[in-house]
Amino acid sequence: MVLERMCALASELLTVRDARELILSATSRLEAERVEIAAALNRALAQDVEASGDVPPFPCSAMDGYAVLSAAAGGPLRLIGESRAGAPFPDEVCDGQAVRISTGAAVPDGAIAVIRQEDVEDLGDRIEPSRSVNEGENIRYPGEDMAAGTKVLKAGTVLGAAELGAAVAAGAGSVLAVRRPRAAVLSTGDELRPPGERLGPGEIYNSNALMLTALAGRFGAITEPPRILPDDREATEAGLSEALSGSDVVIVSGGVSVGPHDHVKPALRALGVRELLWGVALAPGKPTWFGLRDRQLVFGLPGNPVSAFVTFSLFAGPALLALQGATSRARAAEAVLAEAVRRNPQREQAVRVRLEQRGATLTAVPNGPQGSHIVTSLLGADALAMIAPGEGMLDAGTTVALEPLPSWD
Ligand code: AMP
Ligand code: MG
Repeated sequence: MVLERMCALASELLTVRDARELILSATSRLEAERVEIAAALNRALAQDVEASGDVPPFPCSAMDGYAVLSAAAGGPLRLIGESRAGAPFPDEVCDGQAVRISTGAAVPDGAIAVIRQEDVEDLGDRIEPSRSVNEGENIRYPGEDMAAGTKVLKAGTVLGAAELGAAVAAGAGSVLAVRRPRAAVLSTGDELRPPGERLGPGEIYNSNALMLTALAGRFGAITEPPRILPDDREATEAGLSEALSGSDVVIVSGGVSVGPHDHVKPALRALGVRELLWGVALAPGKPTWFGLRDRQLVFGLPGNPVSAFVTFSLFAGPALLALQGATSRARAAEAVLAEAVRRNPQREQAVRVRLEQRGATLTAVPNGPQGSHIVTSLLGADALAMIAPGEGMLDAGTTVALEPLPSWD
């Protein structure tokens, strides 16, 4: 759906899918920068990585043993030297000769097979094979893993451990990666106290700040220590203005509703942030706001911690990935409900579930009480089971769509 049409509909609640589409269509990839490979963990590639040469680069031994031209059981071979990993034997091997060779060492010219150490008797300056070898046995050939010029990693890939290993093997000393987005995380509310401090009357801990900062980091953003804004119009505007000054993305939680102490929306309006989205047909997470100032993205997330977590996962996280041009890995897309769930008549529900493989069936088990203030419903949750709006109960055994939750493994 085009942005304009979606904006025209902004007075209604958008579906989760339309809201995400709108946010992603307002998001464009950041610039690329060259990054040393040693610093490229979790970075999204802006350009394919191709193998600069064959991998392995030369014929090498798969075993500790002896490189030979031919070998027959019982026929002795004269030992003429050694090829070690990193120190090749400089000469040719001829018939009747053998070169001691280590795993990974270059196979000397002339040799066509490696006979395993276990298959010979070592007689000092000679060896006596107990079996014959076939051409190519125990030799790894150049390009078996990557042929020179092969595309090894695609643009958009996020570099994990395996990708870093492959990039280095392919010869990359640095990669072109998309710049990491800078994200500012703010919490609003006079009731919020920093972690560990003593709570006064009516106060609660600021759970959202660290949670949203951790999520932003997990999605590749650079974050600064989160800030608390009081429920005051001027202070809210000043804090948001400062956050906007150095960020690609501003993520503010709470204060976005329509109460007398909710100042986020008017403050953002005054700062020139254009509202593109207000309200999603989602439970939890209805009071979600999204706006744009030039290329800066602003998310006004609901204050309740579970709503903030869910809306971050569904909207802000994908936007952070899109800023990096990152393609996410496919994960389980549906599962079967383990127990009946009461439907919400108007809104799609994001039920926190644990995924359990029961025989051939991937099962979604609701993770305890589902209130938007029940932070413990997030503990151990693997995914969100998305329950379409409707009346009555959705029966156990129904197949439901899954939205991934960020994982830390
Ligand atoms: P609000 O959207 O500001 O009306 O907040 C909705 C609910 O979320 C209220 O119960 C707030 O106390 C709570 N809340 C808001 N911000 C936070 C936060 N940073 N950490 C924990 N709870 C919060
Ligand atoms: Mg508040």
